[in-house]
Amino acid sequence: MKSRTKAVVIGGGIAGCSTLYHLTQEGWSDVVLVERNELTSGTTWHSAAQVTNFGTNQTMVGLKSHSINLYKKLAEHPEYPINYHHGDGGIRMANTEAQMQGYRHFASMARGMGVHFDVIDAKECARRHPLISTDNLIGGLWDPLDGDIDPAQLCQALAYHARRAGAEVYRNTPVTALTQHKDDTWTVHTEHGDIDCDFVVNACGYRVNEVGAMMGVHHPVASMEHQYFLTEDIPGIIEAGHRMPLIRCPISDYYCRQEKNGLLIGFYEQDCKTWGMDGIDPNFVNALCPDDLERVMDVLEGAFARMPALRETGIRSIVNGPITYTIDGAPLVGPIPGKRNAFCAIGLRAGLGEGGGHGWLLAQIIVHGEACYDTWCLDPRRFAGHTNAELTALKAIEDYQNEFRFHFPHEHRPAGRPAKTTPLTPVMAAEGAEFTVVNGWERVDYIKPAPDFHPLLSFNFDEAFDVIAAEVKNVQENVGLAEVNGFNRIEITGADRHSFLDRMFCGTVTKRAGRVGLGYLLNHNGMIKGEATVANLPASDRGPERVWYGSAATSEFHDMDWLTQHIGADEDVQLRSLTNDLTILVLTGPRARDVLSACARGDWSATAFPWLSVRECFVGFAPATVMGVSFSGELAYEIHVPNASLYAAYLALRKAGEEHGLKLFGARAVESMRMEKGFLHWKADLITEFDPFETGLDRFVKLDKGDFIGRDALLKRQSQGPCKKLVTLEIAASHAPAHGGASLMQGEMVVGTVTSGDWGHRVGMNLAYAFVEPQLADEGSTMQLDLCGELVTATVIATSPYDPGFDRIRG
Ligand SMILES: Cc1cc2nc3c(=O)[nH]c(=O)nc-3n(C[C@H](O)[C@H](O)[C@H](O)COP(=O)(O)OP(=O)(O)OC[C@H]3O[C@@H](n4cnc5c(N)ncnc54)[C@H](O)[C@@H]3O)c2cc1C
Repeated sequence: MKSRTKAVVIGGGIAGCSTLYHLTQEGWSDVVLVERNELTSGTTWHSAAQVTNFGTNQTMVGLKSHSINLYKKLAEHPEYPINYHHGDGGIRMANTEAQMQGYRHFASMARGMGVHFDVIDAKECARRHPLISTDNLIGGLWDPLDGDIDPAQLCQALAYHARRAGAEVYRNTPVTALTQHKDDTWTVHTEHGDIDCDFVVNACGYRVNEVGAMMGVHHPVASMEHQYFLTEDIPGIIEAGHRMPLIRCPISDYYCRQEKNGLLIGFYEQDCKTWGMDGIDPNFVNALCPDDLERVMDVLEGAFARMPALRETGIRSIVNGPITYTIDGAPLVGPIPGKRNAFCAIGLRAGLGEGGGHGWLLAQIIVHGEACYDTWCLDPRRFAGHTNAELTALKAIEDYQNEFRFHFPHEHRPAGRPAKTTPLTPVMAAEGAEFTVVNGWERVDYIKPAPDFHPLLSFNFDEAFDVIAAEVKNVQENVGLAEVNGFNRIEITGADRHSFLDRMFCGTVTKRAGRVGLGYLLNHNGMIKGEATVANLPASDRGPERVWYGSAATSEFHDMDWLTQHIGADEDVQLRSLTNDLTILVLTGPRARDVLSACARGDWSATAFPWLSVRECFVGFAPATVMGVSFSGELAYEIHVPNASLYAAYLALRKAGEEHGLKLFGARAVESMRMEKGFLHWKADLITEFDPFETGLDRFVKLDKGDFIGRDALLKRQSQGPCKKLVTLEIAASHAPAHGGASLMQGEMVVGTVTSGDWGHRVGMNLAYAFVEPQLADEGSTMQLDLCGELVTATVIATSPYDPGFDRIRG
């Protein structure tokens, strides 16, 4: 066994084998995989091993396409072929028009990744799968490339090719401890000796938290028991003369594929069960849980009704094994929060289909710092600080119960709520708030007109449309108040804070005390990494001169890690998170100044406190820090208040606002208003796939200011010209917004992809942002938006169609 290597991958299931293989593909040959037993002896060996192309975002579709192409190549390898049923096809069923509309959107989205799904009617479903009845079926989504693979052969093939490229695999070598050294390198302690390395990867399946604990980390991953059975031969299959397509059924929660001349049917029962919550028997190896078909009877009935032939078919064998779920159902693939040189590929609930792609993206992240796609949907840093075992289990159960039911826009499922609240949460609830969840925080979406107001889930504009319109109108004409909780806030102190930030941002961000600036952070490839406001607080009785770095609520761990990693050894810079200590009250609208002046001492005139100022004060008797910044496009104040004083500040503002028509508003009104202003959202419009010039942020880049992270790469990209350009579009439809991921077409060509869309209530336009081919980025260019299967005209318009001169913000 080697005593020193570049990277150690722990775990020899699909996640570990794929990561090892792809590390070699990215050019690292000095890499090792350690497995406590034999390869595939965790979950992988007994997987139903279906390989599908469906995903609800482009990253998932892209990584699954990679799996499919890789598996096909491996299957056809002359020296080491493996069994892969490629392209049996598959149907995701639907019995409501809303589901069908969702499938049409996902087909539009997948088109941009070069993947073609068809949405077919019930009759066509039955033609393609002769065993099914069309009762209670409207149709489904057809994925032509669905298939299944031999999971053990797949992992052996990946290990074989990795070994040929220089990697080593140590079987029967349990990892017992992990030590990180001062220089960020690791020692992996195993039962057969130690291995020093630069990087470690946790790919330990359901034992993820045993290995996580070795580095002091708890991952939000829980295991569920999951069963399928295999049937005897079915005459209808033999008679059909072709392989049966796969089925995914959100109506009765089962899946199905052909196995020999019978079927393999797996169940997602409502009466489901977590597994291993109190520890896992060390001898649970190549093992299964006891069969329990009683538990799946509800689902079984649905499968029997859909495929009557099952009633006359015997069961050959039953498999019940642990399957991992994360707190939001999507895997955790990427850097481990708070750690250096430590990565994971865990929480895989469809690891055979996705595993090829996960290993591919993870290897790119480890070797190059970033993958070819923005991988935020997989990033382990996307949850911050609220992910204990109990909450994870509740969300895992909910996800398991809804396995094939995709999330609709504005759908916020109830399990595990509330997780993060402020003193105002019950107050907002009493005001009639509908809440959305942002990084665990309960955030007001809008104020319901009646307690029993529940819009139908839909890809169209929903019944809340007029409610949002009214909230926007009051902000535009009077003044609105919104609570923005969970906003990421890092206090930066130390003599080198400005030079440090200068290196982190690609533009010049103000250093003047009492002023606020907006800036963008790039990665080493010159692509958009982050967006933040920088507020320079003068010295006061509340503290020394310091910077408040503010960014999206979801970026809490991401930004903290990125900033921490770049503080030089000799730099005087300290970071302290204030995210959980402070909450923002946003006061916005033409009468915002009157309201603030009525409850906070001082001169708040545009001359004394112009746009982009920051000042400490009291709102009523609540200590507050006020910033003149706006995401709504109206005059606005962000009032940062310690949580202990939040209710007091709220009461003071409500009282002062009475005579000015102050009303509450929520996140959906903000979404509409920011679209009218050309303001961008991190990880919707601001992603690592584009640089700041492509994203239309030229004015925030100062190439001549000296060195900053990403500068060299950006200069190189600039000389090559943009691949795409971000534009604002007017959509010629009034029934539905453009959804993120939707394709823009010219004829059969995909020419762009939507990143955000919403109705602009003040301009009366259906607006979208999209990255499009550069030659289509000029105002007046037209293209066709594939809006849930319907082609509608999309026209490029000027950015910031509402108040382009920013006069209202300046007040
Ligand atoms: C019944 C069932 C059906 C399924 N059907 C499908 C399907 O149709 N399609 C699909 O895509 N997915 C399916 N899945 C899910 C899929 O099988 C899993 O997502 C995948 O196998 C997980 O692989 P993994 O590598 O993450 O974990 P595992 O396969 O569990 O591998 C983890 C490895 O880490 C090793 N390990 C743990 N601790 C240590 C340690 N301390 N030191 C060294 N090694 C260690 C373990 O021994 C194990 O080999 C199914 C799952 C189940 C249970």
